[in-house]
Amino acid sequence: MRLSRAFIPTLKETPKEAEIVSHQLMLRAGMIQQTGAGIYAWLPLGLKVLRKIGDIVREEQDRAGAQEILMPTIQSAELWRESGRYDAYGKEMLRIKDRHDREMLYGPTAEEVVTHIVRTHIRSYKDLPKNLYNIQWKFRDEIRPRFGVMRGREFLMKDAYSFDLTEDGARVAYKKMFLAYMRTFRRMGLKAIPMRAATGPIGGDLSHEFIILAQTGESEVFADRRWMEMDTAGEGISYDDAAALDGYFEKLSGLYAATDEIHDPASCPLDPADIVTARGIEVGHIFYFGTKYSAAMNATIQSADGALIPAQMGSYGIGVSRLVGAIIEAGHDESGIVWPEDVAPYDVGLLNLNTDDTACTSFCESLYRDLSARGKDVLYDDRAGVRPGSKFADMDLIGLPWQVVAGPKGLARGVVELKNRRTGEKQDIDVGGILARLVG
Ligand code: ATP
Ligand code: MG
Repeated sequence: MRLSRAFIPTLKETPKEAEIVSHQLMLRAGMIQQTGAGIYAWLPLGLKVLRKIGDIVREEQDRAGAQEILMPTIQSAELWRESGRYDAYGKEMLRIKDRHDREMLYGPTAEEVVTHIVRTHIRSYKDLPKNLYNIQWKFRDEIRPRFGVMRGREFLMKDAYSFDLTEDGARVAYKKMFLAYMRTFRRMGLKAIPMRAATGPIGGDLSHEFIILAQTGESEVFADRRWMEMDTAGEGISYDDAAALDGYFEKLSGLYAATDEIHDPASCPLDPADIVTARGIEVGHIFYFGTKYSAAMNATIQSADGALIPAQMGSYGIGVSRLVGAIIEAGHDESGIVWPEDVAPYDVGLLNLNTDDTACTSFCESLYRDLSARGKDVLYDDRAGVRPGSKFADMDLIGLPWQVVAGPKGLARGVVELKNRRTGEKQDIDVGGILARLVG
């Protein structure tokens, strides 16, 4: 993408309505625009990141055996009356009436809809287990939307729902999602800590929140020091290896970590010196809740001996749009965003420091063409009449992992500068070697 044609409306000043750094940087980098309280339009740069995060989530859900569907944002009140949640949910639910005065709502979550889908088609234990997920916009009329996309009213969530015949089966489904979540967050460059959580309005008896540590986190968390050093990604574990899955789950869930909702210094097994106290951002939340919805909504399964029993269910959420902010909270410096490679909106930034210089421009044009042809997504700053200082500042703000800086002086010596955004390290590279260096 040529910056001269792109719609990336960067700002020099920090907007005063933004309290935390991720919100400030998302506005300054032209990623989002607020259109109402807790409601945002995603501009091209923001949308690219949102999609990359969604794609990682999707790949890891698929690897874990979940199948993608797409459920509507608008749901009928009828289904929520069946589960008993229509009255119970309260003011966070945005309630709507259609022209026939029928009650509708903008889905804050989708247990009812997915239970309805499954009860329509799945009657026999032979059709289980199943795990269905979707990545869809949700609406919750939060009392205090704040921190930009971190606590919006409209937000993008991945929500998966598992269906099993037995409690044991449901626990396996839970452990698969637990592992999938650790892998998902790891790919985004995040260290997520799974913490035992209260089950809240969704109900049930087993639940973990996945929390990343950041100063601006909304909850106070308490975790065993060993979380900080341990490698938790569960590389190499197969989803079909029940024993390995168990071992991984027991190892991680045995290591203390809790949010302030649950943490009780009196009953905590750890010596206070072994506890790290920090702020955390919840990026995912998983629940096992048994037959809460299937029993109320009559989603019954015929078992091998012919008995009709309600399905055992779990639900598994990831805050896809919240993650955009959370990743920035975890990765930025005083000049701007520092994206991890896998979610960066572009792979490489190419800066043409003097568009009036024919040699410089022809070098940049051909490198841009070659990198694009080799599958690299390049943001090419080809703007005329913009000072080098502004180009550097914008590129640092946008935060791509690599920058290639081409100027007449370097080119006269046969080199361009390659800058690593994370370390700040700069290196002169021969013009003949830069392509190979970037495409590896
Ligand atoms: P929170 O405790 O932050 O209000 P929650 O427990 O109500 O979240 P869940 O129902 O567990 O949220 O939703 C799954 C995930 O969706 C959360 O882990 C979070 O990452 C994300 N999420 C929830 N509410 C919001 C929101 N208002 N804005 C952005 N993301 C959200
Ligand atoms: Mg939660």
